[in-house]
Amino acid sequence: MFRSLRSRLVLSHALPLLVIIPIIGVALTNLIETRVLLPSLSRALMTNAVLLANVAGDEAELWANPAYAEYYLTHLRHDISARVEFISPAGQLLASSDPEEARLIGIVLDFAGVAQARAGQVASYTYYNISSPSEVIDVFVPVLNQSQQLIGILRMSYTYNTLYAEFTRSRYVIVGILAGGLLVGIILGWSLAVNLSKPIRQVTQAINELAHGNRQVQVEERGPEEIQLLAESFNFLNERLTSLEKARRQLLANLVHELGRPLGALRSAIQALAGGADRDPQLLADLTAGMDDQTARLQHLLDDLAHLHDQVLGTLELESQPMALSEWLPKVIRPWQEAAQDKHLAWQTDIPMDLPEISADPVRLASAVENLVSNAIKYTHAGGMVSISAGVEGEEILIRVKDNGSGIALEEQQKVFEPFYRGNQGRRFKQGMGLGLSIARDLVAAHGGRISLESEPGKGSQFIIHLPLVRIEPTNTPSN
Ligand code: ADP
Repeated sequence: MFRSLRSRLVLSHALPLLVIIPIIGVALTNLIETRVLLPSLSRALMTNAVLLANVAGDEAELWANPAYAEYYLTHLRHDISARVEFISPAGQLLASSDPEEARLIGIVLDFAGVAQARAGQVASYTYYNISSPSEVIDVFVPVLNQSQQLIGILRMSYTYNTLYAEFTRSRYVIVGILAGGLLVGIILGWSLAVNLSKPIRQVTQAINELAHGNRQVQVEERGPEEIQLLAESFNFLNERLTSLEKARRQLLANLVHELGRPLGALRSAIQALAGGADRDPQLLADLTAGMDDQTARLQHLLDDLAHLHDQVLGTLELESQPMALSEWLPKVIRPWQEAAQDKHLAWQTDIPMDLPEISADPVRLASAVENLVSNAIKYTHAGGMVSISAGVEGEEILIRVKDNGSGIALEEQQKVFEPFYRGNQGRRFKQGMGLGLSIARDLVAAHGGRISLESEPGKGSQFIIHLPLVRIEPTNTPSN
């Protein structure tokens, strides 16, 4: 029955109320009856008793003739709800307005109140035992004649039965108020529960829609803090999923494009060879060189994809070893010199011979440098210049790859390092999947370094690899 969050929340509101309200009810009833109702009734009864005693003091016959007293009280009964008794100074009951007390007439009443009244004092007693039908308020007043002699005692009492209506009325009021409080509590609990459960339902519905492919779905980020956080997390998750989905589509489109071109070129070369092109030695050499280029491109693509796989799985592991930078870097860039010259680009290098030894993975670091150099060549028009230099600055080794090519707009300079991002220049120069820079950044980061970029559209770009300088102590070979 209480399976839903809403009903449980309502219950959690109502349960404490259900426990507290009866306790408050009893305490409140007790308080009102003992502190308000009984004292005011007692005061009123005392006033009435004193008034009646004054009147009765003037009627000497009342005290001398029990039949007259009885008659007197019978009339009085209609006007006064309290029970009235006339008692002789000796304590004998003379008459009572309660017919049930007829059997007690003539009996001596041994009450402390009688003794007090006999001593000339007005006595008032209040007993709060609401379940007993006996007296609740008892007032004893001495009745004096005109010469101030005690001629009798007047007792006026409220029994539980006479007060029943008063008590019941006040108890109904208390029960009514508390029931109203309970109702308000339940209504408040209900509206709170609706407030809480509604956004949770909305998020659940949004998750379902998302699972069924609706990426437009958004959840309103409002309500209590935790619910806001839930909605924020959902929207963030949705954003991430959307961008991953976009990346996946982009990857597929790029793959089709990147695989299609070398495959098409290879196919044409194979067909040319099958058609007898191998008979012309020059053509044969051109075709095999072209095929070699295309397979190299496919290999490069495969490497990128393998890296992407590592990146996604987080399994990029370096095989670091001591490397003499001054020897290693020229070897890495040499093949690219030819590519640059083929494109009629000026090629400059400045690699000092005294660069320190570092510990790095030569293959991975080479891949990072090559990505930058290949971009510099790719995004620089014929006649331009590509320069590569290295050096130590503070606690860093810097490898700079500079070109005077198309440059990168400021707003794109962060984005070019994101996987699959291809800038305006990238789109103009057809080759590329938008992975080179993101791969280079990851590889350098894996070495504890970073890549910075300075670029101006139309003027060129400079990518700088910063590597931490960790000097490797030369190992001492023990002398014989
Ligand atoms: P790709 O070259 O395959 O597009 P990259 O990740 O290597 O992918 O480069 C991302 C984008 O950065 C490129 O599309 C290009 O717009 C821009 N870019 C990278 N290097 C250069 C450069 N040297 N000059 C101008 N733009 C560059």
